Amino acid sequence: MDPRLIILQPTPYCNLWCTYCYLSHRNDRSLMSAEVLEAVREKILAQLPADTAAGIVWHAGEPTAAPIEWYERAYACLEPDRPRNSNFAMQTNGITIDARWIDLFRRTHTEVSLSIDGPERFHDARRLTRNGKPTWHLALRGLKRLQDAEFEPRVITVLHPDCLSSAPEFFDFYRDNGIQDVSFSVDELEGSNRSSSFGGRDYKSALTDFLVSMLALAYRSGYPLYIREVERIAGILAGAPLVGNEQVEPWAALVIAANGNVSTFSPELMEVRAPEYNNFIFGNILVDDLPSLKCNSSFKMAEKEVARGIVACESCRYFGVCGGGSPVNKYCEKGGLAATETDFCRLTTQASADALLRFLSSHNLSPGSFSPPNYPAPNSLAGERG
Ligand code: SF4
Repeated sequence: MDPRLIILQPTPYCNLWCTYCYLSHRNDRSLMSAEVLEAVREKILAQLPADTAAGIVWHAGEPTAAPIEWYERAYACLEPDRPRNSNFAMQTNGITIDARWIDLFRRTHTEVSLSIDGPERFHDARRLTRNGKPTWHLALRGLKRLQDAEFEPRVITVLHPDCLSSAPEFFDFYRDNGIQDVSFSVDELEGSNRSSSFGGRDYKSALTDFLVSMLALAYRSGYPLYIREVERIAGILAGAPLVGNEQVEPWAALVIAANGNVSTFSPELMEVRAPEYNNFIFGNILVDDLPSLKCNSSFKMAEKEVARGIVACESCRYFGVCGGGSPVNKYCEKGGLAATETDFCRLTTQASADALLRFLSSHNLSPGSFSPPNYPAPNSLAGERG
């Protein structure tokens, strides 16, 4: 077991109420206890090879809802056994980031990724406070504070169908706000989000058009906008070493909830009700360790089905850049981990690959010429959406 992504949930609570949120326990204000942190240190971090390069990400719930004092204790506990090539990161909505948070991020070398759904009118249509107020200006304030402190946060944008005809507006937003590293997602049918705004119609070509427009605008203007999904595929096509799909590789992603529950494969699986897999909870770090987690019977069942899903995906023409998709979307959309194509994979991996190829051929470029130095290198922040 050599995880590349370790997601730690400081609290299930979130201070916002986004319309597409998939978190089932976002009212729960509990904090990860000192015992759970100690178990993570002793049973996970201390057991990893010294050269493990994992992203250790505070996520799932809004991490800044946990107090800074809690993080001081958490870093003091975990840091001594952090493998030297691993780094801390946080996926946050950014609305409370101030000088104290920035000081913490700086001292702990924590990379920051912000959830901002593009221009104000799109972001404020869905990312709301608990009493329905807009949050764009608060998120932008967090971004500016980070940038003023010389951080370059990556931004995750969750798209809605009504964004897809407005690529120039999105491009202007990123350029005008100095955002160079962006990751696009779509609101997904999973967890407590019972329907996706992308349901009921096929938006793949509209999403592809959106991405092609973004690439063309960046290329024409010389603005180094790094679109993570597209860049990853360009790297693979240009011959970069293939980094596997951590969502289908057992224990490549390790998720530890605030109460110590442990899961793997897609980080969002823990939010899914699935009694046949014990709701994808494969143990608890307070009583289990890595060897016992691997023997868990629910995990074994899930592992077998995820493997069947990979085999079923092998005939897909996108398999080489996908690796078999996302188990959480297969389960939530298709009812089983062994399924193949989902709306999610069509709108993310497939649309990104199609957009890249169309952009390259219309500009007479090769995948290699698309990569740095034309575009900045990614930071190593991992994570999904928040
Ligand atoms: S793109 Fe979809 S269908 Fe194709 S390999 Fe990936 S998950 Fe499977």
